[in-house]
Amino acid sequence: MEEVECVVAGAGVVGLAVARALALEGREVLILEKNATFGAETSSRNSEVIHAGIYYPKGSLMARLCVAGREALYAFSRDHGVQHRKIGKLIVATTAGEAAQLESIRGRAAANGVDDLRAMSAEEARALEPELRCEGALLSPSTGIIDSHGYMLALLGDAERAGAILVCRAPVDSAGIVDGGFDLDVGGSDPMKLRCRLLVNSAGLDAPALARAIKGMPPEKIPREYFARGHYFTLAGKSPFQRLIYPVPTPGGLGTHLTLDLGGQAKFGPDVEWIDAIEYKVDPARGDSFYAAIRRYWPTLPDGALQPGYSGIRPKIVPPGAAGQDFMVQGPRDHGIDGLINLFGIESPGLTASLALADFVAALV
Ligand SMILES: Cc1cc2nc3c(=O)[nH]c(=O)nc-3n(C[C@H](O)[C@H](O)[C@H](O)COP(=O)(O)OP(=O)(O)OC[C@H]3O[C@@H](n4cnc5c(N)ncnc54)[C@H](O)[C@@H]3O)c2cc1C
Repeated sequence: MEEVECVVAGAGVVGLAVARALALEGREVLILEKNATFGAETSSRNSEVIHAGIYYPKGSLMARLCVAGREALYAFSRDHGVQHRKIGKLIVATTAGEAAQLESIRGRAAANGVDDLRAMSAEEARALEPELRCEGALLSPSTGIIDSHGYMLALLGDAERAGAILVCRAPVDSAGIVDGGFDLDVGGSDPMKLRCRLLVNSAGLDAPALARAIKGMPPEKIPREYFARGHYFTLAGKSPFQRLIYPVPTPGGLGTHLTLDLGGQAKFGPDVEWIDAIEYKVDPARGDSFYAAIRRYWPTLPDGALQPGYSGIRPKIVPPGAAGQDFMVQGPRDHGIDGLINLFGIESPGLTASLALADFVAALV
């Protein structure tokens, strides 16, 4: 049987960042990915926003790793020539009730170490974005956008230069615990059995399913998965906004916000639809509800301007309506299995936090 020191299961942005961190420590790393290419699931189906770290509960992993990861990501992108722009974002209140929430958002951000938010009157916000209608806003200057594919390519490049190998079409189907490691059954086009000392389960939406396929993993430690699909609709024509525009958050997501990609294309989303199985279709009819949501802050959105874009699925580990979702990173002290790291519930801001998550995992190892 082939043997390798570390296997990272899943080549999304987090698996790639973890593989890079382990490889840079001098470890032998094999990345196994079930798809034909890396980053084809959640990591390429998101808003590509570098989040400042505003909304997450104080002390949560999301809050800590977003703030640390954001700075690391800007530095990494500069050093590796990954396209990105710190374009800033406006959080806009469209009612008096929402305006009252802005101050608590600012307080929560400050508690997380995000102390650069600027409160703005409606007039000040409109001076920046003349098409905007709002009762008040917060400007987040440290929010940005990034080419997530270029970022993943740079992570993989670093990892490979440090000796890591990526194998695609290689799903980890199951694992058994053996003395000093794991025996893996790897399926796909070229099935094989493999022994490793360290196994990082970074399988995104499938992480709970993969954990269940590890014989000996205590079932009570595996969170139940829930899928919350978010749809995007793109704007035909030129964006009227220069910055990202976010409404005050709604339960389950950050509201139907406007983001821009590096080419200046505007897209709106993601909304929230709870689904039972992983399926990325976009029903054009969902666009109808987007018009009303967007016109709350951009009243002159023309009829027919939105086109179905794409969807991404949030890997939730709490049921609809429940609070308390956080990144769940389990090491041996959590589940009692030496050499196993599970990453559950890595939804937004997982892209922003990826380098900090990788450091966190490397420290657990
Ligand atoms: C709608 C939406 C918008 C978002 N917007 C943002 C944003 O703007 N900014 C931000 O910071 N974050 C954002 N996020 C979060 C971010 O996209 C994710 O946190 C991040 O992409 C998760 O990366 P990952 O590597 O954990 O998962 P994934 O990208 O899902 O990667 C997991 C990989 O594991 C593979 N895999 C699964 N099972 C197996 C197996 N058994 N064996 C081998 N491989 C397997 C999959 O094929 C996949 O490639 C958003 C998420 C969503 C859903």
